[in-house]
Amino acid sequence: MRIKKIYEIISAGNPRKLVRPTVCAVISNLLNIIPFCFLGLAVFSIYTFYAGETVNFPVTRLWTLWAGMLAAVVVMFIGQVIAYRTAYRGAYMASAEGRANLAEHLRKLPLSYFLHKDSGEVGETMMGSFDMIEQAASGILPQLLAGIISPVFAFLGFLFFDWRMALAMFISMPVAFLLIWAVSGWEKRLGHNTYNARVAAGNNTQEYLDGMKVIKAYNLRGENFSRLKNSFITLMKANIKQEGGLGPIYLIAVAIIKAGISLMTVMGIYLLLGGAFSVPFFVVFLLVGNHVFEPLSAAIIRLPEFRFDLIGGKKILELLSEPMMEGVNVPPKNRHDIAFEHVGFAYGDTDVLKDVSLELKQGELTAIVGPSGGGKSTILRLAARFYDPQKGRVTFGGVDEATLEPEKLMRRISMVFQDVYLFEDTIEANIRYGRESATKEEIITAAKEARCHDFIMKLPNGYDTMVGEGGSTLSGGEKQRLSIARALLKNAPVVFLDEATASLDPENEWEVQQAIGRLVKGRTVVMIAHRLKTVVKADKIIVLEDGRMVQQGTHDELLKTNGLYAHLWELQQQTVGWKITG
Ligand code: ATP
Repeated sequence: MRIKKIYEIISAGNPRKLVRPTVCAVISNLLNIIPFCFLGLAVFSIYTFYAGETVNFPVTRLWTLWAGMLAAVVVMFIGQVIAYRTAYRGAYMASAEGRANLAEHLRKLPLSYFLHKDSGEVGETMMGSFDMIEQAASGILPQLLAGIISPVFAFLGFLFFDWRMALAMFISMPVAFLLIWAVSGWEKRLGHNTYNARVAAGNNTQEYLDGMKVIKAYNLRGENFSRLKNSFITLMKANIKQEGGLGPIYLIAVAIIKAGISLMTVMGIYLLLGGAFSVPFFVVFLLVGNHVFEPLSAAIIRLPEFRFDLIGGKKILELLSEPMMEGVNVPPKNRHDIAFEHVGFAYGDTDVLKDVSLELKQGELTAIVGPSGGGKSTILRLAARFYDPQKGRVTFGGVDEATLEPEKLMRRISMVFQDVYLFEDTIEANIRYGRESATKEEIITAAKEARCHDFIMKLPNGYDTMVGEGGSTLSGGEKQRLSIARALLKNAPVVFLDEATASLDPENEWEVQQAIGRLVKGRTVVMIAHRLKTVVKADKIIVLEDGRMVQQGTHDELLKTNGLYAHLWELQQQTVGWKITG
């Protein structure tokens, strides 16, 4: 793999960020050789005196060399501190930015992407893969580069003094690289297995935690949750295979490289005996030669880790290359009517909407009713462009939504769902998600209109009270009213209500209905309802069954036709006073 590609991978597509940290780390690694060069020169000077080649003991020269060595150690230390800081800061900054970019990219992906993608894998890419590339970028890559560069310098130096010694020292290196290259395919496979096992174990753990209530309620034991246990065992096996299989091969590669030192020693003795070489030279060769392979050996031992980290980088790039939901047009000003024209849509292979044509008129309240699974929520998801239809088109203000910029479209729509999601943040912040620029006064006004101000004021810290993740510390009705306050703050001309009051008790339902009354005033409203009594006043009721629009009209019109709506109405009238018998 080319170094540019590696850089692209480990920097999650932003290689320039890592140039400085790597250069610093390589220089600092190279500085490590300098003290040994001084040491070699010192040995050389002492030897020449004892060999009778110089008259005086080289005291001054030795002191100078010692000072040089000391200076080199100080420079080396400072260099290492700077390199360490630059490398780690560079890697962490690159991955913080990378994570934020990826999060932004995910937001712009069509929801259909997440239908086919494992959410655990996306989570692992977001967190685990970035951890992997941080490690690769800050530690292993600079070490590898320096580990390769220092032998190259040493080889050139050796070549300068004696080409035979240089050759003996480095002749085994290509063999080691050949061995490493030969196992790369196997290593890739093992790495992918480990990565997938890690994702599966993460998913199963998440499922286990999410299902904790059911596990406790039904007293599910280990054997009932063997999937979790099995995924841990698979992960363990994958890890052992990866470490145990590849570890010895890399140790062999290191041994082959270090064999060069013994070859060089033999060559040195041979040259020495033949009188073609002097002892001091030999000693310097041995000293430097012994040290030159250390960084490379350490780097090679970490090569499997590095290659594994590259898998994380590749996953990030794959995710970043997923096409975003885009559009260049802006919804027309003052037009908020939505129309479906022969729309066909499927989540997977099964058709959910079949040739649906309907109009959601501006300024009107349109209700969508029908049996469960008929496609009511899917209509809202398409109208909000969470997905694009596979057949036909959806228009907003007469413009094909597939050409609209999703963010601009979403500014025109507020959505209130049955399942309200609140973020682990303060009450105030959760309402502010409706409009980030809102003032505290505007937030309080929205909260009052949504009938949540009173319960907020009773909370220990009022608007500053923290909400548990997903809003777990509030009741269903309270959460619902907060989400309405959020929608009121957004002040979008179109409002979608998806079963907003379905799961509430009568008292809460009344409160929420009051809040909804404020929200829908003067707006284009599309409302999904199971309980038909909530839609009798709608301007238009659309009846969906099995993905098709089977009826539309006002409540009175539909009752007269004696179709599905009348049948559902009849059924609901009968169940009003139901009770458990027996
Ligand atoms: P309900 O009244 O029960 O909420 P609905 O009329 O709103 O149902 P939709 O939620 O639109 O119906 O679902 C229509 C069909 O599409 C159902 O069969 C449902 O199982 C399927 N479906 C909905 N969401 C998804 C999804 N994310 N992935 C796959 N299938 C889905």
